[in-house]
Amino acid sequence: MEHGYKNIAIIGAGASGCICAYYLLKSGFEVTLFDFGSPLRTLLPTGGGRCNLAHAEYDFKELAKNYPRGEKFLYSIFSRFSTCDTLALFEEIGIETYTQDDGRIFPTSNSAKDVREKILTRIQKAHFIKEGVKEITPLDSGFKIKTDKAEYLFSHVVVSIGGGKSIKGLKHSLIPFTPSLVGLNADIKELSGVVLKNVYSKDTKLNGDILFTHFGISGPLTYKISSIKSRDRYPYKLCFDLYPNDLSLQDLLNANPHKEIKNILSKFFPHNFVKYLLSNDSEVKAHKIDGKTRDNILNRIHNFELKITGANRGEETVTAGGVDLKEINPRTMESKLHPGLYFTGEVLDIDGFCGGFNLQNAWSTAYIAAEAISQAE
Ligand SMILES: Cc1cc2nc3c(=O)[nH]c(=O)nc-3n(C[C@H](O)[C@H](O)[C@H](O)COP(=O)(O)OP(=O)(O)OC[C@H]3O[C@@H](n4cnc5c(N)ncnc54)[C@H](O)[C@@H]3O)c2cc1C
Repeated sequence: MEHGYKNIAIIGAGASGCICAYYLLKSGFEVTLFDFGSPLRTLLPTGGGRCNLAHAEYDFKELAKNYPRGEKFLYSIFSRFSTCDTLALFEEIGIETYTQDDGRIFPTSNSAKDVREKILTRIQKAHFIKEGVKEITPLDSGFKIKTDKAEYLFSHVVVSIGGGKSIKGLKHSLIPFTPSLVGLNADIKELSGVVLKNVYSKDTKLNGDILFTHFGISGPLTYKISSIKSRDRYPYKLCFDLYPNDLSLQDLLNANPHKEIKNILSKFFPHNFVKYLLSNDSEVKAHKIDGKTRDNILNRIHNFELKITGANRGEETVTAGGVDLKEINPRTMESKLHPGLYFTGEVLDIDGFCGGFNLQNAWSTAYIAAEAISQAE
């Protein structure tokens, strides 16, 4: 390999690999992208087909707080490439964006397909090899890449293969993969279809709605809980306060002595849930409720426990786990074990909440790697 000449391979033509290619091509480098599937197809289902490409959090430390794994590692990365830079990148590519009330940023076209096409148009000069990479062998100078069909030599390699994947030949340690942003299995099928509004999850100190499903619980609050507790062993218990505003049940009973307790509580909770919560006490009239029963009901409301038996596998949008961050330099995304090798995106042990944070990680780490390769000796 000629001294100073860089021929660069990017393994994985997903969100991160393609944006890394974009920046490298812009700096005038030759880039080869490998993928066993068509490039950027992984973008198509994002944001329900609308591509939630970033989140309107403009303070890089606040932004990093949305990553249960990777927060500190992302400081130096986000201090150099965060939400503003993402918006500038998309403007440069010809994609207008808008911000929803909840802070999620989408393309004005509301079309992941459109985002995909625009990015692909900008990286047309990259060589694309539709082959899966089986093994990367570090050489004295550069790397040998083995696919199912051939072998190739490159001076620099970027690994952007996404979550839950690995490639043979490297010394890197992998933190075990666990599903994140996923529904949780709980043995409480009789509540399927019930929604409890604005409950408080005591374990994670988060508020939100719980949606009971045929497998357990789901919805944005559950996804966040699944992310925070992604590495906990199943089964575990979750405890919720279902009515965080103080509920003076005694006052309600006093005010409605001849009403059945189920009718009093139906003002606050869905009918099916009240039946479940009260079981045998459901039809007792208010004036017949003694202090012990009242405290018992209140305890069930303020300390509602669910036994979580697993994740609803197959539904996860990201995986926690991946290449150990201790082995990566966050200023360059370069491997500390194999100089000239870089990692970007979800292959790393970084994952964020729903809301555009996972794609932000893909774009930011891609930029940092491309810049480091451009400046490498
Ligand atoms: C349904 C769904 C919706 C989502 N919505 C959002 C959203 O709205 N906003 C958000 O921020 N995040 C969202 N995410 C998460 C986000 O899509 C990912 O975090 C992001 O795509 C990760 O980018 P990446 O480039 O690291 O990996 P990917 O985009 O997964 O790309 C990896 C690529 O590498 C290729 N590859 C893997 N192994 C090899 C190999 N051995 N050889 C060659 N190629 C290989 C794969 O084929 C793939 O094309 C969503 C995820 C899912 C599943």
